Amino acid sequence: MAVMITDECISCNACEAECPNLAIYGAGTPYILGGQEYAALNEEHTYIVPDKCTECVGFYDEPQCIQACPTEAIVRDTNRVETKEQLLAKKEHLDEVGR
Ligand code: SF4
Repeated sequence: MAVMITDECISCNACEAECPNLAIYGAGTPYILGGQEYAALNEEHTYIVPDKCTECVGFYDEPQCIQACPTEAIVRDTNRVETKEQLLAKKEHLDEVGR
């Protein structure tokens, strides 16, 4: 599953630099995927693009952003359950199309 940022977020953006998939964006900032720009997914606080989050699979053993968050605002999104194989396939897709 992807991880998500809850309303506990204080928009410090400490997590943004930790993400190997460039999946984290500031409030209101459009995101990039495969060279295309898309509308921001959250206007209130820092957010994670589910289609770019691999839970750090392919890079690290643990999600790096969860550890970086000072308010414990980053949690696993139980509505987006994915297997390790699916997450690795997502990582490989991002390798191909660009982050
Ligand atoms: Fe990025 Fe890893 Fe956090 Fe997903 S879990 S948003 S890939 S740092």
